[in-house]
Amino acid sequence: DRVAIRRALLSVSDKTGLIEFAQALAARGVELVSTGGTRKSLAEAGLAVRDVSELTGFPEIMDGRVKTLHPGVHGALLGIRDDAEHAQAMETHKIAPIDLLVVNLYPFEEVRQKGADWANTVENIDIGGPAMIRAAAKNHAYLACVTDPADYASVLDALDEGDGALSYEFRKTLAARAFARTATYDAAIAGWFADALDIQAPARFALGGKLASSMRYGENPHQQAGLYLTGEQRPGAALARVVQGKALSFNNLNDTDAAFELAAEFDASRTAAAIIVKHANPCGVAEGPDLLDAYRKALACDPISAFGGIVAFNQKLDADTARAVVEIFTEVIIAPEASDEALQVIAAKKNLRLLLTGAMPDPRAGGRVLRTIAGGFLLQNRDAQSVDDLDLRIVSRREPSAQELADMRFAFRVTKHVKSNAIVYAKNGATVGIGAGQMSRVDASRIAAWKARDAAEAAGLAEPQTLGSVVASDAFFPFADGLLAAAEAGATAVIQPGGSMRDEDVIKAADEAGLAMVFTGVRHFRH
Ligand code: 5GP
Repeated sequence: DRVAIRRALLSVSDKTGLIEFAQALAARGVELVSTGGTRKSLAEAGLAVRDVSELTGFPEIMDGRVKTLHPGVHGALLGIRDDAEHAQAMETHKIAPIDLLVVNLYPFEEVRQKGADWANTVENIDIGGPAMIRAAAKNHAYLACVTDPADYASVLDALDEGDGALSYEFRKTLAARAFARTATYDAAIAGWFADALDIQAPARFALGGKLASSMRYGENPHQQAGLYLTGEQRPGAALARVVQGKALSFNNLNDTDAAFELAAEFDASRTAAAIIVKHANPCGVAEGPDLLDAYRKALACDPISAFGGIVAFNQKLDADTARAVVEIFTEVIIAPEASDEALQVIAAKKNLRLLLTGAMPDPRAGGRVLRTIAGGFLLQNRDAQSVDDLDLRIVSRREPSAQELADMRFAFRVTKHVKSNAIVYAKNGATVGIGAGQMSRVDASRIAAWKARDAAEAAGLAEPQTLGSVVASDAFFPFADGLLAAAEAGATAVIQPGGSMRDEDVIKAADEAGLAMVFTGVRHFRH
C-alpha cells in the first residue's frame, strides 16, 4: 500500500517553504511539474521543472482562471492505477501519473479580511486548486496531496522513512486535511457572500473557520484547542494585534471577547467605559468622563474578583489608566488603541497581555453566534439589540428620576452580557452588585446584593452601594420575590423586560414598595 513518489505537481499561492521543499523532493529523484508562478519561482531557484502545459498540451488561459482544468491533469489525479480501463485511458491519452500534489489556494480569506473590493475578492476564489485537491484527496489510494506548507517537513520525513514512498495511512491523513481545507475555504466564500448580502438567516449560512493558532490546551489542561477565524471582520479578541505578553489561553480569549463585546455597548463618542471580566462574566463595569474614572468605579464593584481579571476599554488607553490597571494583577487588557506612554507603562509588566483592535465593533451589527451540542451545533444571530433603541415603558405609579433612568439604561446594557439568570445593581454609572448565572432569579438578586455588601465592607463604607441603586433583570421577574429582594437591598428603581403572566402582581409589589419600574419589552438571555 505504499506509493513511490516519482512525479509531483506543485501549484501554490503561498510560496512559504516552497523552494526548500522542492529542492528536497528533487534531491530524492522526484520530477517536478508546476503552474506559471510556481514554476517561475522554482526555475529561478535553479530547479529543473516542467510546465503543466506540457502535460495538457494547452496553455494557461484567461489570466490563469484556466490552467490545470484539463483531462491531462485531472486524469493523472483521478485515474485508478490498477484498473485496466483507467490504465488504458491514461496510456491512450498520454496521461502521465502524478504521485504527489502540492497545492495551496488563492488567498481568498486574507483578501476578504483586508476588505478588498468585490471584483478583486471574486477573482481570489480559486477554482482549479480546490478541484485538484479534491481529486487527489479522493484518489488517496494512489497519490498524496499536501495542502499546507506546515506539512512539508513531515512529508519529507515520511518519504525518508518509507524509502521514497508514502504509506496509505499517511496519505489518508493528508486527504483528511485536504478536505478540511476545501471545506473551510468554501465556507469562507459562502460567509463572505452572506455578509455582503446581509443574509442573516443561520439556516442559509455555511460556517467555516481557518485555524489561526493552536493553544497549549483548552478550557482544561487535558483538552486540546485552537483559534479559528471565520473571516468576519469584527474588531475583537480573535483579530486583535497582540502587542505584548505571553500566549493567550483558550479561557483568556473567551473572557477577552466577553469583556470587549460589553465595552462595545458603550458609545465611545458619548462616554468612557471600563469592564472587568472573570470567567466570561463582568465583575465590574462603569462609565465616566474618562477611562481612569470608569476603571476605578468598575474596580470598586468587586475588587476581590477583579484579581487576575481581563480589562476592556472602549477608548484609547492612556497612561494614567494603564498605571491604575497594573497596580493589581491583571491577565489581559484589550482596547481599541493605546498611547505611547500607556504602552511604556504596560511594557514594564512582561507577562501582561495587551491587545489592540484598532476599532470598536458595532453592537448593532449582525453576525452569528455558535454553540455546539452533542451531534450538532446551534447557530443564531448575535444579540444586536441595544437599550438605546428601545421604547422604555414606565409601569409603576412613581416615575423614575432622570438619574434613575440613566442608571437603568446602564444596568440593562450590562445585563445583556451577564450569564442568566442575571441581576445587576447600578448607581451613578457603575455596577455595584452583579448576580450571574443562577438557576433562580431570586438567588441572582440575593447574590448581587450580598456581593455589594461585601464590597462596601471591604471599602470601609458604612452602607452598601445598593442603597439608592437601580436594579436590572435580564428577563422578567416571574414572581414579586426577586423584586422585593432588590427593594430590601435598597434599590429604588427596576428595569426588566416584563411579559410575565404575573406582571400585575409584580407591578403591585413595586408600587407598594415605592419603586419606579420600567419595562423594556426585550429580554437578554445569555447562557
Ligand atoms: P501559480 O502562482 O503557480 O501561477 O498559481 C498557483 C495557484 O493557482 C494555486 O493557488 C492554485 O490553487 C491555483 N490554480 C491552479 N490551477 C488553477 C486553475 O485552473 N484555475 C484557477 N483559478 N486557479 C488554479
